[in-house]
Amino acid sequence: MSKSKSSESVKVVVRCRPMNEKERVAKFDRVVSVDVKLGQIIVRNPREASSHEHPKVFTFDSVYDSNSKQVDLYDETFRPLVDSVLLGFNGTIFAYGQTGTGKTYTMEGVRNDPERRGVIPNSFDHIFTHISRSQNQQYLVRASYLEIYQEEIRDLLSKDQSRRLELKERPDSGVYVKDLSSFVTKSVREIEHVMNVGNQNRSVGATNMNEHSSRSHAIFVITIECSELGVDGENHIRVGKLNLVDLAGSERQTKTGAQGERLKEATKINLSLSALGNVISALVDGRSTHIPYRDSKLTRLLQDSLGGNARTVMVANIGPASYNLEETLTTLRYSNRAKNIKNKPRINEDPKDALLREFQEEIARLKEQLQKRSGKKKRRRQRRRVGGGDDEEDLEEGETEDDDEEVDDKGDYWREQQEKLERERKAIMEDHSLVAEEKLRLLREKEKKMEDLKREREAGEMLAAKVKAMESKLLVGGKNIVDHTNEQQRILEHRRQEIAEQKRREREMQQQVECRDEETLELKETYSSLQQEVDIKTKKLKKLFAKLQAVKSEIHDVQEAHINERQELEQTQNELTRELKLKHLIIENFIPLEEKNKIVNRAFFDEEDDHWKMKPITRIEDDHQMMSRPLSAVGYRRPLSHHARMAMIMRPDIRYKAENILMLEMDLPARTTKEYEEPVIAPTVAAALEDALRDEDEIQVDASGFHSSLGPTPPVSASSSLKKPKSGRPRTGKKSSTPTSPFSPSSPGSPLYPQSRGLVPK
Ligand code: ADP
Ligand code: MG
Repeated sequence: MSKSKSSESVKVVVRCRPMNEKERVAKFDRVVSVDVKLGQIIVRNPREASSHEHPKVFTFDSVYDSNSKQVDLYDETFRPLVDSVLLGFNGTIFAYGQTGTGKTYTMEGVRNDPERRGVIPNSFDHIFTHISRSQNQQYLVRASYLEIYQEEIRDLLSKDQSRRLELKERPDSGVYVKDLSSFVTKSVREIEHVMNVGNQNRSVGATNMNEHSSRSHAIFVITIECSELGVDGENHIRVGKLNLVDLAGSERQTKTGAQGERLKEATKINLSLSALGNVISALVDGRSTHIPYRDSKLTRLLQDSLGGNARTVMVANIGPASYNLEETLTTLRYSNRAKNIKNKPRINEDPKDALLREFQEEIARLKEQLQKRSGKKKRRRQRRRVGGGDDEEDLEEGETEDDDEEVDDKGDYWREQQEKLERERKAIMEDHSLVAEEKLRLLREKEKKMEDLKREREAGEMLAAKVKAMESKLLVGGKNIVDHTNEQQRILEHRRQEIAEQKRREREMQQQVECRDEETLELKETYSSLQQEVDIKTKKLKKLFAKLQAVKSEIHDVQEAHINERQELEQTQNELTRELKLKHLIIENFIPLEEKNKIVNRAFFDEEDDHWKMKPITRIEDDHQMMSRPLSAVGYRRPLSHHARMAMIMRPDIRYKAENILMLEMDLPARTTKEYEEPVIAPTVAAALEDALRDEDEIQVDASGFHSSLGPTPPVSASSSLKKPKSGRPRTGKKSSTPTSPFSPSSPGSPLYPQSRGLVPK
């Protein structure tokens, strides 16, 4: 029960900027109208104006038109939030919207123009004015400035701008940025300086400031600690933290053709923003048990501001021109949803890590040291005055009593001591009775004493300066209460606040009246005639019908937006899947299985950092993938060969000090083969072989015997019948060009039968 009592909604305000020069010149239609009294934004669609399209109406906590002044925004919307931070609540101010709609204008504004300063500089003034008017309170104010770009956190105040910071979580205080620098600031000027330094770093880190700022989130954090004496007589510390967030532009990034690096960027740029949207949806949904804070750095960092221990104001910035219609509607729907987030803010009292407490304790410790120091001196002096050291107890008591005298005497004491030493030195110099050596020794002693004295004095001064510096960082109010023209100013401020409050209440009431009106329309009516009843009912029907149409079109729009979003997600998913497939392909085909397994076994997901990490290569129980240390390495830092060990002992050869040396010349082994030599062949064998390898056409056939027994045969028929059947082997052209006829009249003794080829011994 108490829980629900302390919960409150995120406050959402909408601000519409004026038409800019370009829009005016291009004569764009104005599609947004702002009803400041009712807190409503009315958007009409110019394309469907002729048809029965009804304008879309959104209601918010308050709305600001193009004439709204920065200071009005501050007084009505942000001042109460900063006030509660001063009381020890956490507070967050977001600026959300498309690029160029005035997020930075709202947060920072025009720096040198008091009229157009944004929330951040106005809050500086507010905070330090509040402190200067406070009484019996001690404050410590510090500032940090960071940026999230492509899911990396950069400290805008650190000297090393290339460093990326990590998020960590502590069970008691939640998520924080590790090693984020924060500067203690004592005045408006100092904290403004911090902001300027951060802004410079922001633009230095980016080639195109506008491009960069529309893709990165900037968070300025002011931590205010306040210590006050409680009713129980103890000092209590309250810590309030104010997050001032200038978000990246909410417009859809075009993703067409994105690949590799570009794809990575495209998926990361708005990852934080879409995660923010998902967190808001999940928080509002009521059925969701899981809120995906861990999906992005931004949502993790602002976990407390969304559904946690903080008061939150969201400023949604929109443009009035028709060509921004889509984005304007998206922004309005987005922020409309955020209205329903419930936070549970509470005062952070006496946290463990309050810096103020540390400061106070350190100051007390230093003061005590200083006290001790001066105590010693005084005791010495008094002892000197008394001329002995008889009763120290009394003296010690005395020293606490006359503290003032102590301070006055401090300078005298040092001078006295120095003069005395000087005098003694002179005396030694002039004393002729001493041996030269003795004299030198004594002189040296004196000099050393003088130096000690000087050092002690310096140390004391340093300590005092340190105490002073630390004390100056703790701010206390009430000093210049008179010269502040404050009484009147305060009354004025009070009045302004009252007016703002009244406006707010008026708006709320009007909204309620409007709501009731519709509900109770029926109850009020009494009909005098049937005709009147028909008229009134028709009117009502028309009104309800219009409303129905509005709701229908809203449903249609939301569905369309949803489909668009899904399509975009699907596209991203497809691209990512493709990329994943490619990586898989590479792994499967080009990385040895053994190596892959090793990596798989070493890799683990670090929940804390949201990252895959590698375990170090050491032997971990039941992890047999890891290599054990070779036996040769016992007692050595690395495996060491026998040769290296011997070499180290024999000669101090540097070459073998580190044994992981590779010798790059090759050791050639003894040769076990011979050059090829042609075999020697006997001449008869060679002749026989040559014969055997001769082509068949060259073979001479002796057919003289055959010829004599058969008698002469006509040349044509003989040539056709006696010709050797064609050989299956193809003939070489060269040899076939000189055919030797087996039957030629000029050589009656030409052979008809083949000779032996010489392979078969005759
Ligand atoms: P964002 O940070 O959302 O990208 P900016 O704050 O840079 O947009 O605003 C873009 C331009 O519009 C700036 O030149 C700014 O001065 C102007 N502008 C924005 N809001 C207003 C406003 N309410 N009144 C006057 N000028 C504005
Ligand atoms: Mg901006």
